Amino acid sequence: VVSGGPQATFTGQVAWRATVPAQSPLAETRVSMGPGRHVVSYPLRDGSMMNLVAVEERAAWAEEGWQQSGDPEQLRAVFGDFGGPVGPLLDRVTQVGVWGLFRHPVAERWVRGNVALLGDAAHPTLPFLAQGANLALEDAWVLAQCLCNGTVQSEYQRLRRGRAVRVIDAAGRNARKYHLREGPVRSAAHFALGLGSRLAPGQMIRQFEWIYGHDVTQP
Ligand SMILES: Cc1cc2nc3c(=O)[nH]c(=O)nc-3n(C[C@H](O)[C@H](O)[C@H](O)COP(=O)(O)OP(=O)(O)OC[C@H]3O[C@@H](n4cnc5c(N)ncnc54)[C@H](O)[C@@H]3O)c2cc1C
Repeated sequence: VVSGGPQATFTGQVAWRATVPAQSPLAETRVSMGPGRHVVSYPLRDGSMMNLVAVEERAAWAEEGWQQSGDPEQLRAVFGDFGGPVGPLLDRVTQVGVWGLFRHPVAERWVRGNVALLGDAAHPTLPFLAQGANLALEDAWVLAQCLCNGTVQSEYQRLRRGRAVRVIDAAGRNARKYHLREGPVRSAAHFALGLGSRLAPGQMIRQFEWIYGHDVTQP
């Protein structure tokens, strides 16, 4: 064992995932929000397919295993009140998987003897900034550099753990923003998010510059 630690805990959220044929080649990436739920849709395969990730809050995840196949009719029932382009996308779902989303803290220790952790083994993240695979690739680059320099024991975890914690905390906060319940706080937050993305899309992106602009290959 490189790093012990607590068991993963259920976050109270499940993610439905499906791919459907796109209807328009101009398909765009979109986040649609509702109380306790949100739907992310984005194009795949040069816009010929759309990927759907629909997250809802649930009291418990009782099924065995962390992934189950779901019922498209149930998906449509849960998200049926979403307007805009979500409805037509859901109508085209014929197969869907559903995942319980679990939280596990970032490992305290990443290296023991000749074994080093990277990616999800060191820091599983919730999917709300789409950074899990990216963090794993960044780890791999830094670990390779440390192997070349003979500095795995002293440098690898030091160079990577802080960033992993920061990104994962930001992903957790995003879920809370998206899922705000009815009320003035939700109205104000969603109004600001919607207005911001329409009037100043550059500003919306810039707040994540520290994530998306980070180039781990640069010293
Ligand atoms: C539903 C969902 C949606 C996601 N969406 C995104 C996204 O949009 N963007 C993004 O960046 N990330 C996303 N991720 C996260 C991303 O998939 C992971 O962060 C990434 O795959 C982690 O890479 P990894 O190499 O650390 O682990 P993995 O990809 O899990 O690879 C570990 C491998 O080890 C193998 N293995 C396990 N045990 C053993 C063993 N004993 N012997 C041999 N092999 C073994 C496994 O079979 C697996 O192939 C998503 C994850 C999920 C579950």
